[in-house]
Amino acid sequence: MSTQDTIVAISTPPGAGGLGVVRLSGAEARRVAEGLLRFPAAPEWKPWTASLAELLDESGNTVDQVVVTYFAAPRSYTAEDVVEIACHGSPVVLRHCVARALQGGARPAEPGEFTLRAYLNGRIDLPQAEAVHDLITATTLHQARIAAQQMEGSVSRAIAPLKAQLVELIALLEAGIDFAEDDVSVASSDHILDRIRPISVGLTRLIESFRFGKLVHDGLTLAIAGRPNVGKSSLFNALLQRDRAIVTNIPGTTRDTVSETFSLEGIPVRLVDTAGIRASSDVVEKLGIERSFQAMADADITIVVIDLSVGVEEDDLQLMERAVEQGLHLIVGNKSDLLWGASDLLMVSAKTGDGIEELRRRLVALIAPDGFASPQSGLITSLRHELLLKESLESLQRTANAVSFGLPHEMLLLDCYSALRPLDALTGATTADDILNHIFSTFCIGK
Ligand code: GDP
Ligand code: ZN
Repeated sequence: MSTQDTIVAISTPPGAGGLGVVRLSGAEARRVAEGLLRFPAAPEWKPWTASLAELLDESGNTVDQVVVTYFAAPRSYTAEDVVEIACHGSPVVLRHCVARALQGGARPAEPGEFTLRAYLNGRIDLPQAEAVHDLITATTLHQARIAAQQMEGSVSRAIAPLKAQLVELIALLEAGIDFAEDDVSVASSDHILDRIRPISVGLTRLIESFRFGKLVHDGLTLAIAGRPNVGKSSLFNALLQRDRAIVTNIPGTTRDTVSETFSLEGIPVRLVDTAGIRASSDVVEKLGIERSFQAMADADITIVVIDLSVGVEEDDLQLMERAVEQGLHLIVGNKSDLLWGASDLLMVSAKTGDGIEELRRRLVALIAPDGFASPQSGLITSLRHELLLKESLESLQRTANAVSFGLPHEMLLLDCYSALRPLDALTGATTADDILNHIFSTFCIGK
């Protein structure tokens, strides 16, 4: 992939829209743009200023009125000359605009190539580039907030001081080697361990932030299970606060699982409504029940719903046992509106909405027993980052062990460098091409 040529792509989503933006980046961006536009006067190309122009077809007819914005290198998204042409969002016009740009010498951009160029040109580091993708695909505002923090550099900022301490330690050990012969005092084991400790603590804290970060990034799955007619679909709707599942009073209608995603304190939760579960000889119903069991097994949490107006039956007990065996679960008594008297059970009424807030609170408590901390605590949201941090920590722990065994500094240094390498790979200071390709190929074209 050459970074010399000028690239072009439609940067807005497919389909018709009020606006559609074609983006050009590279040294030839202005020249290519001039070839397909007519300006009222000779274009001044005043940077960071929008100007009106006409988009032309091959014969010089106007096909759209557009707004052209020029971002001069290096103060642009890619750190190259960038021209953005905002058309009226007709897919035909946008495609025409790109086709004309290609005729003018531009090349179609690869997925994520604009962001890749920003990275290669040193305008952003790798975690910042990855955050662009997360921001675009955010499904909750909380995800967006964290991605935005990462986009302006929070991950590398957290790693930088740890890396600096590690580099200092390496320098100390290297010096120890150099001066050992002259018997200049070398660093004592205690001194080395004192320097390793804060780095370990910092790395551990970041790795732990992934526990929450992973939830924010990937979300989790919640299955609602129960006998037919206990009110699973009603509860599903109550949690989603809209009518997605079909509610009926004929037992056994939700034969297939239905799922929808909602935001629980910013964590995207995929809620799965399952077919009613009961001892049955009906073949079709049995299949539905199998799928329900599968949904429970796949889910991070299962809510078992019981009909308080009927009471607990053998089928309920079996289901509860299964849920308990499988891990995180909540037992919920529904139709509390038909009942009086107290119970230790979490009682809700999907019909009146009574207890739904409490149910949400209990779910949060189940997901995050220590509470939801500030966005700061979700600093690491990428599995790639977590793995590299763990790799670094392991090497650092090996260094500490080597110190305890009194091994020579040459050997400690090897482990120190092994601890440094993953941190460099994380921030993108040194990253193999195949990893870069992998990261940027997940982007859409035009980003
Ligand atoms: P599912 O088969 O478990 O999905 O149950 P549905 O959600 O389809 O509900 C079965 C019947 O119970 C419907 O007639 C609902 O209106 C009724 N129902 C559900 N939740 C409540 C509730 O909290 N109170 C009352 N009184 N009826 C409910
Ligand atoms: Zn249902």
